[in-house]
Amino acid sequence: MGERINITRSSMPPYEEFIDAIKPLWDSHWMTNMGRYHNELEEKLKDYLKVDKISLLVNGHMSLEMIIQAFSFPEGSEIITSPFTFISTTHAIVRNGCKPVFCDVKASDGTIDEEKIEDLITEKTVAILPIHVYGNLCATEKIEKIAKDYNLKVIYDAAHAFGESLNEVGIGNFGDASILSFHATKVFNSIEGGAVCFHDDWIYEKLYNLKNFGIRSETLVAEVGANAKMNEFCAIMGLCNLRHLAEAIKSRKEAFDYYCEALDKIKGISTFRVLKPGEVNNYAYFPILVTDEASCNRNEIYDKLRSDDIFARKYFYPITADQNCFRNKYKEVDLHVARDLSKHILTLPLYEGITRAEQDRVIKALS
Ligand SMILES: *Cc1c(COP(=O)(O)O)cnc(C)c1O
Repeated sequence: MGERINITRSSMPPYEEFIDAIKPLWDSHWMTNMGRYHNELEEKLKDYLKVDKISLLVNGHMSLEMIIQAFSFPEGSEIITSPFTFISTTHAIVRNGCKPVFCDVKASDGTIDEEKIEDLITEKTVAILPIHVYGNLCATEKIEKIAKDYNLKVIYDAAHAFGESLNEVGIGNFGDASILSFHATKVFNSIEGGAVCFHDDWIYEKLYNLKNFGIRSETLVAEVGANAKMNEFCAIMGLCNLRHLAEAIKSRKEAFDYYCEALDKIKGISTFRVLKPGEVNNYAYFPILVTDEASCNRNEIYDKLRSDDIFARKYFYPITADQNCFRNKYKEVDLHVARDLSKHILTLPLYEGITRAEQDRVIKALS
């Protein structure tokens, strides 16, 4: 047994660089409330993500909750989404008083099956909330065509797709809005953090109110809001990490390619990261599919890895529709593809600086 290998390891800037960067806060004593670094990060991210408008928030989950809230859907509205995701996606819908209507996914890439969306639309449907799962991009064109035909909003959970683009278009441009997560475990992090990308100016104002108690001036509270602002320490971590992101992604790409080459020789195991032509990839995750042709099933491989202190993860198992808190609560839909995927999927350790020796240990356990 070697050293423990985790599913991920947070990218961090050099210590001195971060310490130097936070020093000015001891002069200004300005630690939060849309400070200088918050605003600087907003500007830098617009460039990096190739989007016109962005609002930073305290984390990805609150970004999702608040953009759903921003649209003021009536209580009990239905939002069509996929259950093959992190639990946050479904929580955000339910916590807004809306009903998740689960749609099955495609076996080819785990994203929402755009051919199955229309059948789920009722007079209560207000939005489609698809996930670019692992960074595999949804069929955005078809999804947005359906939304237009039925007058629905499209909100993407793009937490896995930071910095990706399709034919030079940054993924934050798709739909009415997209949310991102800058959690410590994500490809780009600000310790905790998140953002919403969108097109309409009113959304900036609305999110500003929701994330800052609705306060517009010393004496004016314009509407009911919560507190979900990004603080200056997190913004500075984001600014530092953004400077090093190209190196981080390069390191991930090398590790990604190394896995791909090795897996080519292992029967029944294939990568589940599907690249579309024209797509720029962020190499955030390395999901694999373990088929019946493999020498062991997914759970056996997971256990084998664990016995060598390698922490792969069954992302995403079970599907959110089958979790205790959601099971049998919502419209019953045939989700056999998502359930089948969730039994065969395993996400392998991948992070900036993972060594070939560490990867060899992972590969050995798979062989
Ligand atoms: C990480 C993640 C979120 C939540 O983001 P946080 O920043 O952790 O709140 C939402 N959706 C998906 C798909 C995620 O992976």
